[in-house]
Amino acid sequence: MFQVVKGTRDILPERIEVWQRAERMAHEVFHLYGFREIRTPILESTDLFRQGLGSDTDVVKKEMYTFLDRKGRSLTLRPENTAPVVRAYLEDGRHRRAGLDRMYYVGPMFRYEQPQKGRYRQFHQIGVEVFGGKEPEVDAETMEMVLYFLDRLGIGGCQLELNTVGDETCRPGYRKVLMDALVSHQGELCRDCRERYRGNPLRILDCKQETCRTILRDGPFLQDHLCAGCREHFHAVQRILEDLEVPFRIQPRIVRGLDYYTRTTFEVTNSTLGAQDSLLGGGRYDGLVERFGGPAVPGFGFAIGLDRLVLVLSGGGDEAPVPTGIFLIATGGEVSRWFMKTARKLRRRGLRVVNEFGEKSLKAQMRRADRSGCSHVLIRPEETPGRVRVRRLQDGEQSEFDQEAWEEIVREVNIGKGE
Ligand SMILES: [Zn+2]
Ligand SMILES: [Zn+2]
Repeated sequence: MFQVVKGTRDILPERIEVWQRAERMAHEVFHLYGFREIRTPILESTDLFRQGLGSDTDVVKKEMYTFLDRKGRSLTLRPENTAPVVRAYLEDGRHRRAGLDRMYYVGPMFRYEQPQKGRYRQFHQIGVEVFGGKEPEVDAETMEMVLYFLDRLGIGGCQLELNTVGDETCRPGYRKVLMDALVSHQGELCRDCRERYRGNPLRILDCKQETCRTILRDGPFLQDHLCAGCREHFHAVQRILEDLEVPFRIQPRIVRGLDYYTRTTFEVTNSTLGAQDSLLGGGRYDGLVERFGGPAVPGFGFAIGLDRLVLVLSGGGDEAPVPTGIFLIATGGEVSRWFMKTARKLRRRGLRVVNEFGEKSLKAQMRRADRSGCSHVLIRPEETPGRVRVRRLQDGEQSEFDQEAWEEIVREVNIGKGE
C-alpha cells in the first residue's frame, strides 16, 4: 500500500471543519477591510525566490523543493507566497494604478525541513499583502484586522508584539553599534550567531539560545538609533493602535528572518502555544517590489500559519464536528425511489441529507446513521404508509409527519440550531 509522503499529511473529512471555519472567517473578515483574494500558481520559476528572498537565506539554500521540468527549466514549489504575489502584481501592471491594492491568499507552501510535531513540509498559510501605502495607518489597520480575525474565531490570549527594524538610512549605523557591542562577546555566541555576526547581525536579536539572549538583554536596540523618519513612523503606528484601543507590547527582538523588511515588524503570540511560539508575523517591506524590478512601491503584509492556528482552535485535539442534517431510513418496497425523491426535495429546501443505497436491515441503517454526522434520521416505517418520523439521534425524541410535508420536516430538524 502507498503511504503519504514524509512531512505531508491528509486532512481527513472528520477534521476538515475547523480548517473550513478558519478559512471562511478569513474570507469574511478580510472582505470587510476591502481585501480581495488572489490565487497564484503553486509552481514558480526558481529565480523568483532566489531574487526575492535572497540566495543566502536558509529557505533558498536548504529548504526549497526545486526540480527541472521536462524542458530543463528550474521550477520550485512555493516556499512562501509574498514573492509570487509581487510577481503577479507587477505582471498585471497593478503598480500603474493609483491607490492601495489589498490582497490576500490561502493555500499550501512547501519547505524541506525536518518534520516535527506541528511542522510539515507541506504547510498552509493565510496571508495578506497591501501595496501602495507608506502611511502608518496601513500598518496599524492591517494589524488591527488580524487581531479582529483572531477574536472572531474566539482565540483568546493573543498578544501583539511590535517592533521596528528601521530602513537603509538608520540600519547601517545601528548594525555597527550592534557589532561593536558584541565584538567582545563573539566567543560566547552560539554557532549560528557567530556566522550571523558577519552576515546578518540583526538576526542575533531573535536567537532563541539563552546565552545569546542574555548578552543582548539590555540592548543596544534599534528603536534607540532610528532616523527621524523611522522614529516618526514608529510613534505614529503606536498612537493609531492606541486610538483604536488595540493593546500591544514593544518587543525589540522581532526582526523577522528575511532582510526585505523595513520599519514595522510584528508578531502575534498566543499563550496556549509555547512561550516562544508566534501564531503569525509580518511587517512592512518598502523595498521589495523594487527588488523584483518594479518601481518603489511600499508594501505591508503578514502570513498566518494555518496548521498552528487550527491546533489552537481545536485545543490541540480533534474537534468533533457538530452533527447536522438528516439520514434517510426506509424498509419495504420502492425504497430507492423514495430515497432519491425525498433527498432531492429536502436538499432543495436547504437541508443536508445523507442517504445510502441498496436494501439493508433497519439495524444496519441505524448504525450507518450514527456514523453519518447527521443530527436526525427520517424514518419511513412500512406499517404506516404515507407517514414519516423525524427522530433526533441525541435523545431519541421524535415527531410524525405527512411524508410530503417537506417544510415541516425541515423546520423540525432545524429547531435547536438557533434558527
Ligand atoms: Zn545565537
Ligand atoms: Zn530610518
